[in-house]
This record gives sequence, C-alpha cells and structure tokens, in this order.
Amino acid sequence: MDDAIIISNLNDYIFCPASIYFHNLYGSRSTITYQSADQINGTKAHETVDNNRYSTKKNIITALEVYSEQYNIVGKIDIYDADKKMLIERKRQIKTIYDGYVFQLYAQFFAMVEMGYDIQKLMFHSIVDNKNYSVPLPKDDNQMLVKFETVIRDMRAFSLDGFVQTNGEKCKRCIYEPACDRGLV
Ligand code: SF4
Repeated sequence: MDDAIIISNLNDYIFCPASIYFHNLYGSRSTITYQSADQINGTKAHETVDNNRYSTKKNIITALEVYSEQYNIVGKIDIYDADKKMLIERKRQIKTIYDGYVFQLYAQFFAMVEMGYDIQKLMFHSIVDNKNYSVPLPKDDNQMLVKFETVIRDMRAFSLDGFVQTNGEKCKRCIYEPACDRGLV
C-alpha cells in the first residue's frame, strides 16, 4: 500500500499533475492559508459527513475509509445508502460533471465492492441547487472505465521533472500558482 493513490488526488491530477505535488506539500498546513473560497466552501460541504453527523440511520454509512487492492487506491467515501445500494458524492455546486469527479466515484466504488458492499447506483448531489446526477456503473460505461484505468497508470508513471504546463488558463485559476515554478502566469 506504500505507493497507494489517494482518491482525492485523482481530480487534482486531471486538473494539473503538478498540483498534486503542491497539494501534498501544503497538505499538513492550515487550509485557510492556501485554499480558495470555492475549495473552502467545498470542504465545509463535506464537514457534516466527515464528522459523521449526516445521519444516525443504520442504513446510511458516511466518511468510511476505503481501500482497493486491485487499483491500490485509498480514501474516504461520502455517503453510502445500504437500502438503496447507492454510493453518493456530494459537492457544493455541480455545474459540470468532470471526468475527475467520476474517477473519484469509481475509485470509491471499486474499493467498496472489494470490501463486500453491494452498490447498484452511483450518484452526485449538488448541495446548493439540490440537484442529483446519476452516473452509470463502470461496467455500463466501458469508455469511462478505460479512461479511469489510464489515469491510474499515468499517475503511477508521472514524474514532475519532465512536466511542462501548456495551458496558462489553468494556472490563472490555480491556488498553487504563487509557489509553482511551472506556472504560466
Ligand atoms: S500553477 Fe499551473 S503548472 Fe503549477 S500547479 Fe497550478 S496549474 Fe499546474
């Protein structure tokens, strides 16, 4: 499990592989010093779940630590509803379902299935506008499954040394830009 990929890093990697380096670098510091407003709001959105205050119902499991041996990935789920056999990831406000979001949900799914949970539905919940977005299971979306496995392989092979950023727009929106020597701003 030494080189396990952290599930939350999947979305960061899609945004910019170099951002994972800074994410890990600043990971132990107070979040307020480097998180943008959107990220802090997103963190707040998860706090109820992370502190296990979402529900006392027995069929609802929240903030469970999960690990997949098959993909060597580790992280935490948001919500699992055992009655509905549904895995749910809440985000503050969803405007687009990015591939990185789906990969995070897939990673949680594979880990939970390995751990013996029955999951028949995947869903995103957008908190601000109270909308739900269902996501096909990996077995029903082979194209996305192939993308997911490719990203996992790429992450394992990635080296910061040879990385050159080509999309300056990303750097403009990146919270790590002041510290990053690959930035294009
Ligand atoms: S500043 Fe640009 S290159 Fe650096 S981590 Fe952010 S997006 Fe990546």
